[in-house]
Parts: sequence; structure tokens; C-alpha cells
Amino acid sequence: MVVILGLEGTAWNLSAALVTEDRVIHEVESPYRPLHGGIHPREAAQHHAAELKRVVSQLIEKAQDARFSICDIDGVAFSQGPGLGPCLRTVATAARALALALNVPLIGVNHCIAHIEIGRWRCGTEDPVVLYVSGANSQVLTYHTGRYRIIGETLDIGIGNALDKFARYVGLKHPGGPKVEELAAQGTRYIHLPYVVKGMDFSFTGLTTAAKDAVDAGNSLADVCYSFQETAFAMLTEVTERAMAYCGKDEMLLAGGVGANRRLQQMLHTMCTDRGARFFVPESKYLKDNGAMIAYLGLLQLRTGQTLPIEDSAVRPNFRPDEVEVKWR
Ligand code: AMP
Ligand code: MG
Repeated sequence: MVVILGLEGTAWNLSAALVTEDRVIHEVESPYRPLHGGIHPREAAQHHAAELKRVVSQLIEKAQDARFSICDIDGVAFSQGPGLGPCLRTVATAARALALALNVPLIGVNHCIAHIEIGRWRCGTEDPVVLYVSGANSQVLTYHTGRYRIIGETLDIGIGNALDKFARYVGLKHPGGPKVEELAAQGTRYIHLPYVVKGMDFSFTGLTTAAKDAVDAGNSLADVCYSFQETAFAMLTEVTERAMAYCGKDEMLLAGGVGANRRLQQMLHTMCTDRGARFFVPESKYLKDNGAMIAYLGLLQLRTGQTLPIEDSAVRPNFRPDEVEVKWR
């Protein structure tokens, strides 16, 4: 049995988990919640630094209840990128220290691929087209000849970031995504907002500005939230469907924190059903940023020998998923 300790802390959630081949042994997290405004990279990193010892100690303690000891750990995996520089560096430092102290391999994983692999693992989907929608990232990907290829992506900000920026503007606390979803459920009138799909890519900044303007113009907040979701999610669904047609794949996997949105799930589910494809979405705890996904991808990479010497373990804030050679598939 192989046991991997995974550390996630690319942005808002500091999370540590122990994973083995067939299950998540335990996970402990400490989310950073900004007092005002959005995620401040240095504040988030300070939060992670202050919480790392408690989170990891608690994980080890809980694992002991499940009859696992620190000596059982075969590797330490961490999110090497993409993410916020100060957060990445803080968590990488902890991961290096743990790997050295335990004398086990250090495994640097790509955060986006970790979202995909935990989804495939939890849902049992073999070869899906993936819609990965989180705060900073929005991409449509699929596996082809040894890599996850990015078929389409945002040309500016991620959809989660767009929702959060809009929400903050109208006075809602971070993170705004779930609050926009609640308000949208009460909306009844569709207000025209910019629908921006260019080829296989999409863009959200114009939509965010137009939504702010629509609120300033006196439209009801619920109607604007409703229209924002309908527009943005239709864009994402259109590109995902085209990617499925293009690649001839009949499975679709949703990944990333915004994937918790029921309206987005509903649109994608309808699209998949209409084309005779299967739609997969993992439990919410595996959609958002979590340590288990890092540990799980670490486990896959340890098997294929994709570990890191300490001297090559610098963080990669702009690490793209198609830079990784996928040897475990
Ligand atoms: P992640 O970076 O993958 O953990 O995702 C975080 C992002 O997901 C934030 O931008 C949140 O606002 C967004 N989010 C979380 N829940 C929802 C939801 N129900 N609807 C829309 N966005 C959400
Ligand atoms: Mg993420």
C-alpha cells in the first residue's frame, strides 16, 4: 500500500490530506477568508504559514485513529502551480521540509491536472472532456497522446473571479459565487449581457463590467445575477459541447469550485443528455481546492517516477497543464 501526503495552498484553501490507492484516509483544511475585498496574495500566504503546523499535525493525529502513522508516508506531494506566488512558496517550503524530514520523495503536481484526476477517480470516468472552472482558471481540456490538451480557455479572468468581482462590487462578501447563485434563483427577467466566445475561447471581463452597469442602471440584483449566470454558463456549455463534438468523446467531467453551481451542472447535464453523452461531477469537497487531489495525483506520479529533486522544486505560478507529460494513463 502506498500512502501520500498532499499539500494544497495555491490560493484560498490550505489543505492537507493522506491518500492511499483506494481511499482518502483523512483531510484537514483551513480556508483563508479575507476580512474585506478579495484574496490578498500575501495575506493568504501568511494565513497558510500560520496554519500549516496545526493542519499537518491534526492530519497526522487523525490518521493515527485510522491506524496510519507518519512512518507509513511514502511521498510528499504539493501544488507546484499554477497559483499565487507567495502562497505557492509557503506551501512548497513546508513540503520540502516534510519530504526531507521523512526521507521520502517530493512530488510536484500541477494543480489543474489534480482537479481532473480526482474527478476521474471519484466518478469513474475514463476519457472525458473536462470543463475546469475555478477562481483563477477556466479551461476546457481533454487527454490526447500523452498530455492534457487545452482546447479552449478564458482570454482574461476565470469565471469564479468574474463572479467574485461582480459580487464584491454589489456589496457581497467573498467568495461571491455561491451568493450570486442564491440570488440568481430569485431572478425572473433576462437582461442582455455580452456573450463572448471567440473560436474555442471565452472572455468574462466585459460581461462583469456590463453586469455592474446593469445594477447601477437600477435593474434588480436578482435579475442581473440570473442573467450573469445564464450568459456565462451558456458560453462555457457551448465551448464544452463543441469540444466533445470535435474530439468525438461521449463523457464530460466538471471540475473546479464553480462546478458546485447547480445551474451550471444543469445546463451541462442537459447538453450531455441531448447528445447522448454521460455527465460526471464529483462531490463538492472534491470540486473546490483540496489536499486529497494533490495527494492522489502525487500517488499516480510516484508510480511513474515523476518526482522532484529538491533543487528543481521551485514553484511555477504559471504552470500550464499541457506542460506535463502524462505517464500514468
Ligand atoms: P476553487 O479555486 O476551485 O476552489 O474555486 C473557488 C471559486 O469557486 C470561487 O471563485 C467561488 O466564488 C466559486 N464558487 C464556489 N461555489 C460556487 C457556486 N455555487 N456557484 C458559483 N461559483 C462558486
Ligand atoms: Mg483550483
